[in-house]
Amino acid sequence: MKRNYSVEELKVLDQKHFLHPTSPVKTENGPAFIFTEGKGVYLYDITGKKVIDGMSSLWNVNIGHGRTELGEVAKEQMDKLAFSSCFATFSNEPAILLAKKLAELAPGDLNTTFFTSGGSESNDSAYKLARHYWILKGETSRKKIISRSRSYHGVAIGATSATGLKGFRDFTNSNAPDFLFVDHFSIQALRDLIETEGPETIAAFITEPVQGAGGVHVAPDNYFKEIREICNEYGILMITDEVITGFGRTGKFFAMEHFNVVPDMMCFAKGVTSGYAQLGGVMISEKIHQEFSELSEGTILHGYTYSGHPMACAVGLKNIEIIEKDNLVANAEIRGQELLAGLKVLQAKYPFIVDARGLGLMAGIEISYEGKLLAPQIVTEAAKLGLICRSVVLDAQDIVVFSPPLSISQKELRDLLDILEKAIQEVENQVLANKL
Ligand code: PMP
Repeated sequence: MKRNYSVEELKVLDQKHFLHPTSPVKTENGPAFIFTEGKGVYLYDITGKKVIDGMSSLWNVNIGHGRTELGEVAKEQMDKLAFSSCFATFSNEPAILLAKKLAELAPGDLNTTFFTSGGSESNDSAYKLARHYWILKGETSRKKIISRSRSYHGVAIGATSATGLKGFRDFTNSNAPDFLFVDHFSIQALRDLIETEGPETIAAFITEPVQGAGGVHVAPDNYFKEIREICNEYGILMITDEVITGFGRTGKFFAMEHFNVVPDMMCFAKGVTSGYAQLGGVMISEKIHQEFSELSEGTILHGYTYSGHPMACAVGLKNIEIIEKDNLVANAEIRGQELLAGLKVLQAKYPFIVDARGLGLMAGIEISYEGKLLAPQIVTEAAKLGLICRSVVLDAQDIVVFSPPLSISQKELRDLLDILEKAIQEVENQVLANKL
């Protein structure tokens, strides 16, 4: 491709004109990478540097980069019908067929989908649909949403207000009311909070099956079963946020299958299109859908322009076809076990790694070293050596997280672990040399 600007010029333009999402405002030299291509688990930047995308970019490129079938489907759909509305009495084939496919894949009676363009919109939609449900049921005082510490649900105002990572909520000086938090692993804390607030005031409880951005926290055995029981006992809707965990990431199609728990609503995004198009949604149970139909005399006054976008839905259908055809869920399970085993070997070797954990291809190592943060240094060194991973330092944590494409091979996974170890050794050397 002919380039009109040099790399240096692009970096300057980036610094001047591009306010990056969830990023430091000031950078010394502009972006570290300007990516131009992706193939499988690899990303290539503008200078030709090749790196393993150990995060599937933002936990989302599940099928890996460069699957041209998705571009073909997108072009075909765009050429035929790029966009038409799904408001009121309008619909389109890809949206209908994707909603049907999702109903087949989702656990239990989660059979109906409200489409959005991403995870934050999906969570905001879930809160609004849950509250609307209680209005229809005549229980108008049920409006509070309970969430967990260390949770991440996105950056729309509702999604941020439900995000347990306090830094995100403190970004502005006003969040939405009626969001409450409990310790992320404590069943008793949830029960106590419901009792204190009054169950008749609680609309829903929202939880990630595995907390992602909060540091890959896997809940204890039986946690979700007990949560389901408490929600049943108090008549509270259970919402799961499968934005990261859906579409094979944890070695099951949806992570709640590990725990045999069916929520009342389930949010998804990311892996539904592997990032090839912007799409998300909320699935609701057949029971809730039926009650909406029976009790509502009005309109669902909630909808995005792009709810049910034909091109995005066509890409979603093709992406799911690839996940199924290439057995990527089974691969995620096997490679996930190897990833975790590899991280545990590193834990045994390096005393400052105090935990290695994960589920499927979602994993993390937790670090504790004399109050100093090492995870960001490891991530920086890994990037230099050819591996993209991510650090989590919010909530006084020091964690490196991994989420490679579900298509990763055994050899590529070994390379990932080798590069990671080299980065860890480099940081250890710096620590020993007192450079950090
Ligand atoms: N929920 C979870 C669990 C997420 O990880 C994310 C994004 N990382 C979101 C919601 C928000 O999704 P989006 O960025 O697409 O709005």
